[in-house]
Order: sequence, then structure tokens, then C-alpha cells
Amino acid sequence: MSAWVQASYLLSAALFILALKWMSAPSTARRGVLAGEVGMLLAIVGTLVRHDVVDYQWILIAFLVGSAIGVPLAYLMPMTAVPQRTALSHAFGALAAALIGTAEYYRHTPHGFVMGALVLETLLGFLTFTGSLMAFGKLQEILPTRPIVYRNQNIINLTLFGAAAALGVALVIWPEQTWMFPVFTGLALLFGVLLIIPIGGADMPTVIALLNSYAGLSAAAMGFAIDNKLLIIAGALDGSSGFILSIIMCRAMNRSFTNVLFGAFGQVQVSAAQTEKRPVRSATPEEAAEILDSARLVIVVPGYGLAVAQAQHKLRELYDTLTRRGVDVRFAIHPVAGRMPGHMNVLLAEAEIPYDKLFEMEEINSDFGQADAALVIGANDVTNPAARNDKSSPIYGMPILDVDRARTVMVIKRGMSPGFAGIDNELYYMNKTLMLFGDAKAFLSNLVKELAAVRA
Ligand code: NDP
Repeated sequence: MSAWVQASYLLSAALFILALKWMSAPSTARRGVLAGEVGMLLAIVGTLVRHDVVDYQWILIAFLVGSAIGVPLAYLMPMTAVPQRTALSHAFGALAAALIGTAEYYRHTPHGFVMGALVLETLLGFLTFTGSLMAFGKLQEILPTRPIVYRNQNIINLTLFGAAAALGVALVIWPEQTWMFPVFTGLALLFGVLLIIPIGGADMPTVIALLNSYAGLSAAAMGFAIDNKLLIIAGALDGSSGFILSIIMCRAMNRSFTNVLFGAFGQVQVSAAQTEKRPVRSATPEEAAEILDSARLVIVVPGYGLAVAQAQHKLRELYDTLTRRGVDVRFAIHPVAGRMPGHMNVLLAEAEIPYDKLFEMEEINSDFGQADAALVIGANDVTNPAARNDKSSPIYGMPILDVDRARTVMVIKRGMSPGFAGIDNELYYMNKTLMLFGDAKAFLSNLVKELAAVRA
């Protein structure tokens, strides 16, 4: 490999590492994305100028077809559908790795270590492909989101995986036995399906982070199989970051890893999904404006509904209006608010709400006691006190934002529908809570108008 190609690989590996580092803080996230993009471009150019590329014509055709699908997909998918779009990306990334492994097997029939890497690559690649497609189907609600369970499921799955792994070992020992390869592939594909169907839709984003990790490991194994160091580095980064992310998400929901993978969580949801018909106190935009106007500290809690209503710019207007009047406005970010990690950060950054006003759950929870008002906008589960008090609740133990400690709690949502976990929220029935019924964007717009009227 020429020195230029080596240099481009080295630089892109460094850029990938910097990208991950920069993406972990909102203030440097844009730079991180750019670094990742430049790194990827360098990696592609470096690979294309290598002399062992067989045929540029096919690469060009694949590039055009891929772009024709990928570009509209990126533009047309709404922000709220990013989890399922990510699942699709993992499915195709993993399929690519698995197909390269398959092609390498039939072209060269490698032996020893390389065959071991190839087996790992194809096993992880194929199971991630079907697993991610299942995750996509559940999130897009093409497939039933509830867990599909049957007797001895975990034993059947383990046996299937054991059979695939045993065939993989056999292939490493006797690579010339080509009949084994399609059977091995079939088992891996089937295992991907069976691994995901018992997991409820609620756990899909966590599972996607895990599948991301598998796709990365498959790419790293491919790096060993085809002797490409950049693939090893990029795959290892992808594999480890996906794994760390899934652990962070499990912690934020107070779930164990095994519980997500084998616990069939979504089942609880269905049975708990009835909301009660109990009286609540509601208020008009005018009444809410008066409370906010006389407050010193207001803590805003954004949630999934803010993203659905695309009300982030209206929220920025409210923030501007209140800060101009000397109200201290802070934003409390729960790690799993919304539908994907960092969802609220992205949304608030889009509206250019200053980063130093965004506080993580651990930082802000002690401030609720001093807040005159907590303004919950389209958030539900992340504020549900049942997570603290009700042992029978499916979200019991999940760390929550302590909004109920504020002097007044105001909740903007359209009705009494539950959130993602499908359960009622005791917060809404408290004496200090005022329900502000309406679409988040419309209500915030009225609130800003009323605030102008309060001082007019
Ligand atoms: P929730 O899903 O708990 O609640 C969202 C609320 O928004 C609903 O109760 C809904 O009530 C309201 N809403 C919907 N549309 C609008 C609108 N247009 N205007 C105003 N309100 C609206 O959201 P949270 O952010 O509180 O919690 C996130 C949930 O998602 C948690 O259960 C978390 O575990 C889960 N999750 C999060 C992941 C992540 O990575 N962030 C990953 C996996 C799961 P109504 O219909 O009455 O308006």
C-alpha cells in the first residue's frame, strides 16, 4: 500500500477518534460531525486509489444508487423517526460487511486466523442485518411492537446461537466444506430475527445501540479478514461506543442489560395502559403567563411532545421574553427524554438556546426545590413520581426529574394520554399541578402573546 494511502488512513482514524470526543459535548458537536465526515471521505478516497480495486465502473454505479436512496432518506425522514432510520443504516452496514465476508470466502477460502475473523464477521453481520430490520419494523410499527414470546424462548435462542457458533468453528477447521457456509448463514439470519422479536418496542432504541455495536464488531473482524487496519480501528470505535451508549441508556432507565435483552419489558406496558378519569386542575395561557411573569426561577422540562410539535423555536421566544424580564430560566435534560439519546439537546440547539442553560438531571434535580415554577413541555414518563414511589410500576427505579418539588408545576400536553411507557402520571393529579392543555407549539405561542399583554 502506498505511503499516501497509509497517511490518509492514519489521518482518518485520528479524525474518527476526535469526532467521537467532540460529539460528546453540545458546544463541539458540529465540529465532531464535520471531523467524522472528513475522516470518512479520506477513508473512501484512500481505498479507491489503492491498486487492488477491481472495477471502478461497478463502484460508480453502487455510489449513484446508494446516494439516490440515502440522500432523500436523510432529508425526508422526520426527526422523530431517527431511531428507525438508524436501525436501517445498521442493517445495511452489517449486510455489507457480511456480503464482503461471503465473497471473500468463496473467492479465497481462507484458513486459520483469517477464516476465524471471516466467520465472526459474517455471523455478526448477518444477525445484525435481520435483527436491525426487525428493530426498524417495530419502531415503524410495521411489526407488532409488543414482545412476541413463546415457551422456552431463551433456550431455543441459545441453542440456535450455539449451533451457528459450532458451525462457525467447524468452518474454521474445515474451510473447504463449502456446504456448511449457507447453513451457517441461514442460522445467523434466523438468530437475528428471533433475538429481537421478544423485545418490546419500548426497548428498541437501546437494542439499536447494541446492534450498532455488533455492526462495528463485524466491521472490525472484516478488517482482520481483509487486512485493512482502518476498518479494524473504525469498527472497534463503533463497537465500543455503541456498547457504552447502550449501557448508559440502560442505566438511565434503571434496567439491567439482561432485562432488556431477555425481559420482554413491553408486556407490562399493555396491561398498565389505562389512564384514570380523575379530576385535574387546568389553566389558561393567561393564568400561566401570570405565574411565569412573577417567578424568579423557572425550570423548563422538555420531552418528546416538544419534538412532535416542533415547538423549539416558540420555546426560544418564551425563553427570550422571560429572561428579558429578569426571570432565571433553566432547562432540565433527562438522559432518555424524547426518543433517542441527545434528542432534547439537538432540539434546543436547533433553536439556539444557550448551552449553559441546559442542565443534566443530576445537576438540576436539587434546584427544583427553589423553583417557583416547573414548566413541563410534552414530557411525561421522565417526570413520573411513580418511578420513585410505586414498586408495582413498570418504571419503578428509573431516575426522574423531581419537578414535583417546584412550587407550581405546569404541564403542556394535548390531553391525558400516557407517554412511551403507557402509564398514568400521578403528577397531574397533585394540588400544585396545573394542566395546560393544547399542542405545545400553539400553547407556547399563546403564552408568549399573553406575557406581552401582562406588562402592556
Ligand atoms: P413521553 O413519551 O413519556 O411523553 C410524551 C408526552 O408528550 C405524551 O404524554 C403526549 O401527551 C405529549 N405530546 C405528544 N405530542 C404533543 C404535542 N404535539 N404537544 C404537546 N404534547 C404532546 O416522553 P418523555 O420525553 O417524557 O419520555 C421519553 C420516554 O421514551 C421514556 O419512557 C423513555 O424511557 C423512552 N425512551 C427514550 C429513549 C431515548 O433515547 N430518549 C429511548 C427509548 C425509550 P398527549 O398525547 O396528551 O399530548
